[in-house]
Amino acid sequence: MQLIFSLLLTLVMILSGTPQATPELNYDPDSLVSIKPALRQEIAAAMPAGMTAYDIDVTIPPADNNAFAEIAGQQTVAYTNVTGEAISQLPFRLYANSLTASAPPMTITSAQVNDAEVPVALSENNSVATVELGTDLAPGDVIVVDMTFSLEVGIDDPTHYGILNYDSASHTAVLAHWYPVVAGRDPVDGWMLDPVSINGDPIFTDAGLYTVTVTIDAGLELITSGVETDRSENNGQQTVTFAASPSRDFSIVTSETLVPTTSEVSGTTITSWAAPHAVDASTKVAEWTGNTLNIFNPLLGEYPWVQIQTVQAPIYSAAAVELPQMFVLGTAFFNQQLGFASYFEFTVAHEAIHMWFYSLVGNNQYQHAFIDEGITNYLSADIYFRMMYGDDVGDSTRQRFLYTDFQRMIEANADVIVDFPTDSFPTASAYVNAVYTKAPLGFAAIHEAMGSDAFFGGLHQYIADFRFRVATPADMEAALQAQTDINVREMWSHWFERREGGLDIRE
Ligand SMILES: [Zn+2]
Repeated sequence: MQLIFSLLLTLVMILSGTPQATPELNYDPDSLVSIKPALRQEIAAAMPAGMTAYDIDVTIPPADNNAFAEIAGQQTVAYTNVTGEAISQLPFRLYANSLTASAPPMTITSAQVNDAEVPVALSENNSVATVELGTDLAPGDVIVVDMTFSLEVGIDDPTHYGILNYDSASHTAVLAHWYPVVAGRDPVDGWMLDPVSINGDPIFTDAGLYTVTVTIDAGLELITSGVETDRSENNGQQTVTFAASPSRDFSIVTSETLVPTTSEVSGTTITSWAAPHAVDASTKVAEWTGNTLNIFNPLLGEYPWVQIQTVQAPIYSAAAVELPQMFVLGTAFFNQQLGFASYFEFTVAHEAIHMWFYSLVGNNQYQHAFIDEGITNYLSADIYFRMMYGDDVGDSTRQRFLYTDFQRMIEANADVIVDFPTDSFPTASAYVNAVYTKAPLGFAAIHEAMGSDAFFGGLHQYIADFRFRVATPADMEAALQAQTDINVREMWSHWFERREGGLDIRE
């Protein structure tokens, strides 16, 4: 099969995928302060009923390079039973507790329902905390769980790529999965209670409503998934409230050293945070992030949030990691020469595209990581460069970032089934080959067969239908199939469910 081809890409300005009539709003549009004002009505109607509401207070004490002090939090979680059956237990994930360490970094110190203490049972290396509700919660009913928790954040800790870590060199703390979160629900398999993944992204959640109040030294920058709604200062401490509704989850970065570079695209403020000496690179990051929004807003549906932030921080065993309405870029990027169509630019586009395929539409990375990683890597390695710089550049970045590794994999007789549980791959490199190399080329082949109008029309509809929800591979396949007469099932199966990659090597 010829893999390099010239795409006649037309901007698919169809907004027909967006629900038009809004007979009933699930939420108050005025409360969605992290959403662009012009979209609040539409988003309020599109959000699924019964999203979990988190109201969290967290104190982050001063850090020193010998011991990042313990974080103390209190949260009120209003959970609506969306399981369709009565439940008497509610599982939370403590993704910080991924290791078999004798002292888990995160502890739930108390849990109450209706002011009464309730038991919490830990399992899966303390990464699942099952709360006994003390009652049968009928479908559609709401229960409020109050909880206190503590978390010991490591220093220069490479676990989970460094996204729960205090970096002693830059005095920057990246805090993903820093609070107990209601377990994500797979639309087919239900609660996702597997051990914390080793190969892929560790966090799988349903989108929720977040109000988070952080107390920390007044001199520190606070970079979060939300927008600031309140602030006070007292005794050298700042107490800042952020709102993020809806949001896939909620991440916090604190820093003494990073400085911002800002720009704006279509009502979204882009803030790139980097070390003061890296302002040139930081300006490029903001520019590339803006390019990504400009290209994919029309193709996939408008990025709805008022902000997107990028953060320079040490990342271990990965180049960068997506978080809700923000992403972390490895420090090494900022110390390099800024080349044309670089791996750095590709990585920025990749993480920015994750805001559609991960933040907006969730998927179970434990079972089907290729759904977000595969499509994201195709759109960033190929389409981003093709749209920015023309077909010749898009052809060459596809070759460089995708096809070369694919060819190497096939020649090494290491073909893999793509749609496979993340930690069931025999090696980490098999996982990487599957989701970052073979899967993107599968989406490229489907795109080529369908044509751009149908392909992007399908993705646009998929985003519109499943935003703030969790989608399955079958949902994405059906969204594409609905736009075309070609047999998507056959191509999907060939690329993602079988080991037939040898048929796709160019002679
Ligand atoms: Zn990714």
